[in-house]
Amino acid sequence: MSGIRPTGFLHLGNYFGALQNYVRMQDEYDCYFMVADWHSLTTHPDTKELRSSVLRVLAENIAAGIDPERACLYLQSQIPEIAELYLLLNMLAYKGELEKTNTFKEKVRLQPENVNAGLLTYPVLQAADIMIHRAKYVPVGKDQEQHLEMARNFAQRFNHRYGELFPEPAAFNFGKELVKVPSLDGAGKMSKSENQYATLYLADNDDMIRKKVMKAKTDTGPIKENSEIPETVHNLFLIMSLVTGKDVVMHYEEEHKKGAIRYADMKKQLAEDMVKFITPIREKAESIYHDEKYLKQVVEKGREKAGKSAGETIRLAREIIRLKYF
Ligand code: ADP
Repeated sequence: MSGIRPTGFLHLGNYFGALQNYVRMQDEYDCYFMVADWHSLTTHPDTKELRSSVLRVLAENIAAGIDPERACLYLQSQIPEIAELYLLLNMLAYKGELEKTNTFKEKVRLQPENVNAGLLTYPVLQAADIMIHRAKYVPVGKDQEQHLEMARNFAQRFNHRYGELFPEPAAFNFGKELVKVPSLDGAGKMSKSENQYATLYLADNDDMIRKKVMKAKTDTGPIKENSEIPETVHNLFLIMSLVTGKDVVMHYEEEHKKGAIRYADMKKQLAEDMVKFITPIREKAESIYHDEKYLKQVVEKGREKAGKSAGETIRLAREIIRLKYF
């Protein structure tokens, strides 16, 4: 189980941290992927763009390779059972631990005028999203590690207090380290809403991709052989390794070692490989986005399957808590 918030265009981080694994998992697992529209209200109270964002995220999920016939693709707000489980889990979550969560502290810094309770209990709703399907594996990027740890705590506490019901969910990347795609300006990760010129979006056109890559931070270049690779350049190599063949990446690494690298050449190569990677996804997403009839069908199918799974979990949870009187 996993989800993405409809808070803007999807980017390379969403793709390599999450979507790529969704696509791989749908062949082997019973998958539930949702558009997390409730979650977006914690940071995006203005809902004028919500509908178009939700449709776009759905289209981008499908364009990236999710097959709604195999994986269940649904909207969070259409499954009210998630809200009920969230309420139940709130009794097992403590104010102190929620206040200590990194993402909460970060959001308080970013939006001091809107520190709402939804923001504080974000990890509880996220745990409910996962636990509503009694999911075990959660394909997410590295930024979600702490939230997953909290979800495991809530599952353990529930099982301990009321009786065994939930497996302990774990972040999943086919046994490999979780991914963090860095931003192009050397500060933090690529993100939907925070640093748009340092983030590559799956909806960026070819010129925009080239412009952003050519502007990426490097340094003045190595002055001698075997000089240390600064973080900005290391990040660029990392991003390059996502879309460029191994041999070519190695070539530039060798050039760096020799102290002979020309960053402009490296960036040109990266820009062209990025254009080749993003263009087909962008074009496919664009055409799916305009097919509302199809998207409606996808969402209805998703709602039916996710609703069934969620209904069964809530029935069991009520029973095990003894919220059942006759
Ligand atoms: P954003 O942070 O861009 O708003 P979400 O919070 O909706 O994205 O996260 C959706 C998924 O994308 C999560 O699994 C998250 O871990 C992953 N993700 C987001 N940004 C990155 C990144 N820069 N690198 C790797 N994974 C990321």
